Parts: sequence; C-alpha cells; structure tokens
Amino acid sequence: MCVNWQERFAETPDVLIGARSCRTVVTVGKVSIGGGKFVTMAGPCSVESEEQLSSIGYFVRRAGASFLRGGAFKPRSSPYAFQGLGRKGLELLVEVRRRTGLAIVTEVMAERDVPMVAEAADMLQIGSRSMENDSLLEAAARSGRPILLKRGLMASIGDLLRAAQIILSCGNPNVVLCERGIRTFDNTLRNTFDAAGIALLKQITHLPVIADPSHACGNRELVPELARIGVAAGADGMIVEVHPDPARAWSDGEQSLTFAGFEKMMHDLAPWIALREQALCQQQTLTVLTPCAEAAA
Ligand code: PEP
Ligand code: MN
Repeated sequence: MCVNWQERFAETPDVLIGARSCRTVVTVGKVSIGGGKFVTMAGPCSVESEEQLSSIGYFVRRAGASFLRGGAFKPRSSPYAFQGLGRKGLELLVEVRRRTGLAIVTEVMAERDVPMVAEAADMLQIGSRSMENDSLLEAAARSGRPILLKRGLMASIGDLLRAAQIILSCGNPNVVLCERGIRTFDNTLRNTFDAAGIALLKQITHLPVIADPSHACGNRELVPELARIGVAAGADGMIVEVHPDPARAWSDGEQSLTFAGFEKMMHDLAPWIALREQALCQQQTLTVLTPCAEAAA
C-alpha cells in the first residue's frame, strides 16, 4: 500500500516537503542544521554549576559538539525534585557560550519565561511535556529564535507535525524536529525509540530532524547504539546528555555519558556520520513529495 502523505497530513501543509522548493536549513550562529553536516548538541541534563558547565562545554567542543545543551528550567517527574537553577542557569549558559563559542540550546517551559530564555539562548527547546501547549509554541515562535521541537511522550507523528505547523504559522520557519522516544506498552527502557519516525519525517517534511538517544532509552550503555541508529535513519544531528560524574548528576544521571563515553561515541560514530553526510548532501535538492500513482489514483 502506498500512502499519500499530503492527504494524510492535509491539516499541516506548511511542514510537508511539497510546501517548499528546498529543504529548510536552520542556521544558529555559525552552525547550520539540515545543511548536510551532522550537528551534535551535547551537555548536561541540568545546569548545576559554573564548574560543571564549563568543564562539559570545553570537553564536548573538543570532541566535536557545536551546541551546548543544558536545562535551566526542568520538567521533573516529581514536583518536589530539583526544578532547575532558573535565571542563574541561563547566566551560566551565557557565560560558557562566551568562553567556548558553543551555541546554546535550552528549554523554555512557561510562556512568561519566553523573553528571558530567548534573550539568553541561541535556540529554544520545547520539551516533550510542552509539545501540545499551543500558547507556549506561539510565544516561542514569536520570539524569533530557532526552535528545537521535541516529540511529546504520547505524540503521534501527526501530533508533532501539528505542533510544528503552529510555529511555522506564527511566521517562524526555523524549526528542528526531535525524536526522543515515546511511551509504548514496553516499559523495559525509559521510552521506545522510533527510528522509523525519523526516516519518515525525513521523507515527508522539509524540516531538519535530530535524534535524542539519551531520553529515548534512559540508559547510557545503549546511547551510542541509538545514536548510530539515528544517524543511519537519516537524522541531521543529535542531542545527547553528558556529565563529568553521572552518578552525582542532579537529573538523568543514568542516561548521561561520561566524558570518556562521549569521546568514544563520537570517535566510533565518525565513519557513519561521514556516510550519512554524503547522502544528506545529495538530498538537499529533493523538492517535491509526489504522491505515488496508486495513492494519486
Ligand atoms: C531534556 O532534554 O532534558 C528533557 C527534559 O527532554 P524531554 O522533554 O525530551 O523529556
Ligand atoms: Mn534530561
């Protein structure tokens, strides 16, 4: 059976590949996402201290990352757990950007915080739990900052496209989609990584797509494997959690790579990324999502 994706996702026309004559390349400072070069965003789950963040920043830059990730506002399973350093966390991100030159991506959770987070960050992350918060999406879109849109925990591909459509319809074309695992019947791992979702999104939308192997499995032992699967599925980049001492991390230590683990993963991924980049370069001119004969009939 051949699916007519244009018909299937008729309510989100602007995100589909036929809406543009070329793929979207999201430029953040000196970094382009979706432009043929695989982009690595790395850093702690939570910003904890200046020492923690700057040591991570220097390390991940040396190992090949071009973005520093780190949460200053944290959505946590327990409302009594650490909720992030807030404004202080943003100040630390700005300081480490100044020192390392890395671009900053960080989550904004509340509409009222959008101006503050947008002033500090190069890219705003909309977290899984916020993906269906339309007023937050609109406020983030109107800040003018590029948006990293993470797929909701229980969101279908159509739900993710709907959220992206809202951002685009507010006049912000700079959206990067992120597959970070979804909830399924199988609770063996933290989430279920939808590699097919990445492959499909690359086929049907013009937006860049990245993988988050950390939240997708919740287990550092599996992160390098999932990262490789993300590359092979066609992702334009990845976002990954790294911590100098994961056992003492304030959040998501179990899935955070050590410095040595991150360095090894980057080394081992290099040939896969090189293969992927060759293919990505060839795809940049892919223009129209033509319905196949069977679906069009
Ligand atoms: C995170 O990136 O640390 C995070 C909370 O991600 P998600 O929204 O995907 O759970
Ligand atoms: Mn996390």
